[in-house]
Amino acid sequence: MSDAIIVGGGPGGSTAAWLLARAGRSVTVLDSARFPRLKLCAGWVTPAVWRALEMDPATYPHTLQPFRSASLELDGDRYETRWPETASYGIIRTEFDEHLLRRAQTTGAEVREQTRVQAIERTDTGVAVTTADGETFRAPLVIGAGGHNCPVARTFGNVSRKETVVVTRESETRLGADQLRSLTEHHGTPELFAEADFKGYGWYFTKGDFLNLGIGCLGSGRDLHRRCRDLLERLRLDGRLPAHIELEPFRGHAYAVQTQEPRHVAGDGFFLIGDAAGLARGVSGEGIGPAVESAHLATAAILCAETDGASAYLSQLAARLGHGKNGALERVAGRMPHWMTDGIARTVCRTPVLRRKLIFEGAFGMG
Ligand SMILES: Cc1cc2nc3c(=O)[nH]c(=O)nc-3n(C[C@H](O)[C@H](O)[C@H](O)COP(=O)(O)OP(=O)(O)OC[C@H]3O[C@@H](n4cnc5c(N)ncnc54)[C@H](O)[C@@H]3O)c2cc1C
Repeated sequence: MSDAIIVGGGPGGSTAAWLLARAGRSVTVLDSARFPRLKLCAGWVTPAVWRALEMDPATYPHTLQPFRSASLELDGDRYETRWPETASYGIIRTEFDEHLLRRAQTTGAEVREQTRVQAIERTDTGVAVTTADGETFRAPLVIGAGGHNCPVARTFGNVSRKETVVVTRESETRLGADQLRSLTEHHGTPELFAEADFKGYGWYFTKGDFLNLGIGCLGSGRDLHRRCRDLLERLRLDGRLPAHIELEPFRGHAYAVQTQEPRHVAGDGFFLIGDAAGLARGVSGEGIGPAVESAHLATAAILCAETDGASAYLSQLAARLGHGKNGALERVAGRMPHWMTDGIARTVCRTPVLRRKLIFEGAFGMG
C-alpha cells in the first residue's frame, strides 16, 4: 500500500508525485494514457512555473521557445507588447508532460500508465481506487489530478452544473521553423486575437518547428465552431495560413475556470489539484501554473499536517490562487451594462501600459 495514490500524471499529478517521492513518501500515479501523450494546449509556460518546478529553461532538453514580445489583434488592429528580457516560454505539451512524469518516476514514484481509474471509495483506512481493469489500489489518501473530468472530482468534488466552462479547439502541426518564418514575421511570439464580444480569444503561436493555433471561449460548442472557422478564414486572408498548409486535425476540449462556484477541493482522504480542482485562470485559461502551484500546496499540507491537511490546503489555495473567494471582479462587471464592460475591455487592449499589466502580465503571467 502506498502513502498516496495520484490519479492523473499531467503537470499537477507529476509535480505532486515528484514532491512526495522526494520527501520519502511512497506514491503511485495512475494515468489512463501512455506517455508521451497528446494534450491540447497552446503551451505557454511562465517563468514562475519553471521556478516552481525547480527547472532551468536553459537546460531543458526539448522544444523551448523563449519570447520577449506578444501581440493582440482587436477589430483588425494589431497591438504589440515588448519586454526587455524573456517574458515567457513556449513548450510542446507532449514533451513537457513526459519530461515531468519521468522525473517523478526517477525520483521514486511508481507510475502506472494505460490505467484508467473508474471508481473511488472511502474505506476504514483511507481510500480504495478501482481501475477499469478491475484492479484495486488502497492508500490513506488520493490526490485527484485527472483534469476536467477527474474521477476523484466527480466522486468527492461536488461539481456544480453552474460552473464556468471554457470550450476550446486546437491544432498543433510540425511545419518546420523555416516554413513558419515565411508565414509570419513574428515567428516565436504568441499572436492573440480577441473576439469582438470578449467572450474568448484565438491564438497563432509558432514555436520552433511547430505551429499551434486554436481558440477558446465561454459558450457552446456550436458557437466555438463558428468562431474557429472565422479565425481560420482571417488567417488565410492575411497569408498566415495558405491553403496548401496541411494542419493536424482540430480537437476540442473543455475545462472549468475559477469562478464563484468552486469545487470542493479537499476533505477526508482526498485532495484535488489543477484542472480537477477547476483552478485555471478565468481570463487567459492559463492552467499549468495553477496545477503546479496547487500540487505544491497540497503536498505541503500532506507533509506538514496530515491530520488536518485539508483545511491547511484550502486556506493556502485561497491565499495564493484566490480559490473560493474570487469572482468580485466578475460580480462588479456583471452589474455593469454591456456597453460599459465592452468599452473598458477595448480601452485596456488599446492602452500599452494597461495591456501589458492587466492582460499579458496579469492574466497570462508573462514578464
Ligand atoms: C486548447 C487549450 C489550450 C491551453 N493552453 C494553455 C497554455 O498555453 N498555458 C497554460 O498554462 N495552460 C493552458 N491550458 C490549460 C492547461 O492545459 C491545463 O490547465 C493543464 O493541463 C492542467 O494540468 P493538470 O495536471 O491539472 O491536468 P491534465 O494536464 O489534463 O492531466 C490530467 C491527466 O489525467 C489523466 N486522466 C484523466 N482521467 C483519468 C482517469 N479516469 N484515470 C486515470 N487517468 C486519468 C489524463 O490522461 C491526463 O494525463 C490550455 C488548455 C486547453 C484545452
